Amino acid sequence: MRITRRRPDSVQGPAEHFTGTVWLDETAAPDAPSRLRVFNVHFAPGAHTAWHRHPHGQVLHVQEGEGLVQREGGPVEEIRAGDTVWIEPGEQHWHGAGPRTFMTHLAVVEAAEDGTTTEWHDHVADYPA
Ligand code: MN
Repeated sequence: MRITRRRPDSVQGPAEHFTGTVWLDETAAPDAPSRLRVFNVHFAPGAHTAWHRHPHGQVLHVQEGEGLVQREGGPVEEIRAGDTVWIEPGEQHWHGAGPRTFMTHLAVVEAAEDGTTTEWHDHVADYPA
């Protein structure tokens, strides 16, 4: 058993994968054989990810605020505190804050055998105004 009282520094989401101001806090990344990765992700209003996929899928649990999520071929969907989204393995999608609202969600993934958690694609071209 291990209790973590001081976590790694918050990391800003890089501009190649995120639009706007996004901060990521690593909450859990246990040693092998676990491949669990948990992040707390804070999006400023209008901030959002680029299109991407996760090899083993992803759970998003909205903790605060209001945001948006979209899968390829689907509508932009509103999500708010208390909502939980399951993204299928390999499903192309993006997520982020609403245009005028902050949003914080927990992001839970299982890394692939090579350690990869995310395959990044293009920026979102039609984020709602
Ligand atoms: Mn995702």
